[in-house]
Amino acid sequence: MPSLTTKKYKSDFVEHFKGDESGDRSPRQTPGVLYSRAEPTSVKKPKLLAWSQDLANELDIDYPHETDVEILGGNKTTASMRPYAACYAGHQFGNWAGQLGDGRAITLGEWGSKKGIFEIQLKGAGPTAYSRHADGRAVLRSSVREYLMSEAMHYLGVPTTRALSLVTTGEEILRDMFYDGNPKYEPGAVVTRVSPSFLRFGNFELLAARKDVNQLEKLVSWTIERYFPHISGENKLLAWFQEVVEKTAFLMTEWQRVGFVHGVMNTDNMSILGLSIDYGPFSFLDNYDHRFTPNTTDLPGRRYAFGNQPSIGYWNLGKLANAISPLLEDVEPLEEVLNSYEESFWNGYYGMMGKKLGLDEVKKTDKELISQFEKVLSEVQPDMTLFYRLLAKLPSGIQEENIPGHFQECFYSELETSETASFKKLITDYSKRVKTNKISRETSAAIMNRTNPRIILRNFQLHQAIEELEKGENKLFLRLQEAMKDPYSTGGFENLVQKRPAWAETKAGCSMLSCSS
Ligand code: AMP
Ligand code: MG
Repeated sequence: MPSLTTKKYKSDFVEHFKGDESGDRSPRQTPGVLYSRAEPTSVKKPKLLAWSQDLANELDIDYPHETDVEILGGNKTTASMRPYAACYAGHQFGNWAGQLGDGRAITLGEWGSKKGIFEIQLKGAGPTAYSRHADGRAVLRSSVREYLMSEAMHYLGVPTTRALSLVTTGEEILRDMFYDGNPKYEPGAVVTRVSPSFLRFGNFELLAARKDVNQLEKLVSWTIERYFPHISGENKLLAWFQEVVEKTAFLMTEWQRVGFVHGVMNTDNMSILGLSIDYGPFSFLDNYDHRFTPNTTDLPGRRYAFGNQPSIGYWNLGKLANAISPLLEDVEPLEEVLNSYEESFWNGYYGMMGKKLGLDEVKKTDKELISQFEKVLSEVQPDMTLFYRLLAKLPSGIQEENIPGHFQECFYSELETSETASFKKLITDYSKRVKTNKISRETSAAIMNRTNPRIILRNFQLHQAIEELEKGENKLFLRLQEAMKDPYSTGGFENLVQKRPAWAETKAGCSMLSCSS
């Protein structure tokens, strides 16, 4: 099996596009180029903290020996690597932000495998031309979160970039975690991320903003040929955009399915392949609250709150459509494709909800039932994950007075009389509907248990694992790493299946997170 050190890496992106090969890593604007060469900056003492053996097996990567760990920590590159930081732009919180780029991510090279070609990228490996005022590093806490969460999303079946390794650097870095003028030293780390591509909407927006239609056209053609090779015919551009629309809509339904809130859906964090990318101040929902945003920076407007994600997906696609519009003479068909998002999302959404509820099909009246679920759950705010697993266990013909008792453990607070009434009505209506299923109750419950995870990575658990790791103890971390591999299990890891405890409700890192990472 090839190791990270012996592999001959490909460099298709670098060979295809204009880049700044000077290796200069001072922060600057880089007009005319799509990337800047960037060697990782060495660290004191790279130490392997975690390795994703499943991913390594898929890509045929040998377990890392000493020299490989040096690569994973940024202390060594090999002759076939052409490390670079990509240049992109984007809209952040609704405003044009201009040139951004990989400020702390460095792609080492492309790994060819029987599964295809994958970019191998270090996150936190030191400054690049795009680091602006920041240090190019990442703290252990944010790296653990990205490592575990991207792998967890993979096992949940949600499209995502992957994480191959987590390496501590033996160095401390200064962070003002609460943005309150009290910076502290924290341990540093590097995550090795893997994805067929890390291209974002923002890569296309950058070229459009530069009015560099030639390179824009080239990037679009390259993306289609490489990542959408089945697209052929005259209207490749529209067919491609249609797929990006559909993949994005699908990703949004998937986030809604598992209760994932990304927290920073800026267009520079939107993958052109419809993957979950750039894990920062994310969270799963604990209590079912559409208005929940885990990102403290997002609090004033709640732009990226759970319930807003699908419409933000559309907004972001609008920016991508704008960016590629110079490649079309007539933009009307592009607008039509953009507007197909709504139908694509809702079709996917109702299909997904039908499975969450274990319905044999989704009829018109079922759409009303689904809306009723949204409304009542938002009012009662049970723990989303526990609720759906309890729903799959609902005894058929349950008496109305027994309904609150069945769901007891998923509530965060005592229900008010009116809440109890609407909750009872919802479950009674649901129970009646399930009786009309043409599939057995067992089949229906099996569908539900394949759609509704039992184990999610809750922020308070991540927080506890990180606190332990910072003290040199990896027990909970390893436990989470193991548990997340089987999120739809019917047993095991019992003490991880619990709602957020009261102490974690207002604790930083458990319900609210800052972007400081
Ligand atoms: P994010 O919100 O994490 O996607 O980051 C927005 C931009 O800031 C991206 O261009 C990042 O590469 C950059 N960035 C974030 N943190 C750092 C850091 N510590 N050093 C350099 N660049 C950073
Ligand atoms: Mg980002």
